[in-house]
Amino acid sequence: RAKMNRRGGYEYFTRSMGVEIRERVLLMHALRAAFEHEKLFLVFQPQIDMRDGRVTGAEALLRWKTDDGRFIPPDQFIPIAEYSGLIVDIGEWVLRTACFELVHLRSLGYTDFQMAINVSQVQFSHPLFMQSLNKALEDTKVPPHFVELEITESMAMKDPELLIKTLQQIKQLGMSVSIDDFGTGFSSLSHLQKLDVDKLKIDRAFVNEIQKNSSEGSIAKMIVQLGQNLGLSIIAEGVESEMQANTLLSYDCHIAQGYLYSKPLTRDDLHAWLATR
Ligand code: C2E
Ligand code: MG
Ligand code: MG
Ligand code: MG
Repeated sequence: RAKMNRRGGYEYFTRSMGVEIRERVLLMHALRAAFEHEKLFLVFQPQIDMRDGRVTGAEALLRWKTDDGRFIPPDQFIPIAEYSGLIVDIGEWVLRTACFELVHLRSLGYTDFQMAINVSQVQFSHPLFMQSLNKALEDTKVPPHFVELEITESMAMKDPELLIKTLQQIKQLGMSVSIDDFGTGFSSLSHLQKLDVDKLKIDRAFVNEIQKNSSEGSIAKMIVQLGQNLGLSIIAEGVESEMQANTLLSYDCHIAQGYLYSKPLTRDDLHAWLATR
């Protein structure tokens, strides 16, 4: 009986793998077509100074709406874009589109607005990455100091030398860099200290964990202290309640992004939202 179970389990495993791979390939073709037909778009989630409600900027987030009106979440299609290499072109498009939007916002008078842009590890380690950054700056004429690239902690570990070199080049261009989802990637602190980054983004899992004002030893609090010790800025992501906001403020973390303030907004909705503030 045990034997039969094992066999059954094995067959089930290979069968479901087959389905999974086929689905992935289908999704990859659909994603490529969507990208080529300009069906991908960006939304923008505001970032706020919780002390006075001032908008400091926004994070650009990619969206894919299929022809039958379904949204496929980025957590699902970004890995496919990375795996297939499509992320290089998509990422370049994201970068340019976000920079153009920033230029547009500046023309509307939002001249102190920071645009945060996610960069995938695959994109970042591509030999032409710096060239595409340069070109985006040239073509959009956006002032680089208002552009912030978000990299992930796991990226920080893959190829430290390439990372350090690329970070230096980004800094020379005048852009800033933040570490996204900080606290989830197990990067070593000594390594972090060597990286020329500007900001840590507390992962929303740790914001979610915040219970009461006096949560001694909360990970969010430790990250804020770590950032202060390293002279880095801090932003909390996924802030959903006043209690979380107040607790973060009591930790000396002032900048936040989350549903408490705004969901990610389409470009038009962002303009309308900004105009009411
Ligand atoms: P991320 O960069 O950590 O982005 C933050 C995610 O948290 C976004 O999910 C955002 O919608 C969500 N979020 C923000 N505030 C709240 C909140 O208060 N509550 C909850 N429950 N969620 C909140 P989204 O847009 O689904 O993106 C998921 C991930 O996909 C991103 O995580 C990022 O890793 C990746 N991604 C999105 N756009 C791009 C892109 O243009 N390029 C690359 N390489 N990755 C991207
Ligand atoms: Mg991000
Ligand atoms: Mg994040
Ligand atoms: Mg994330």
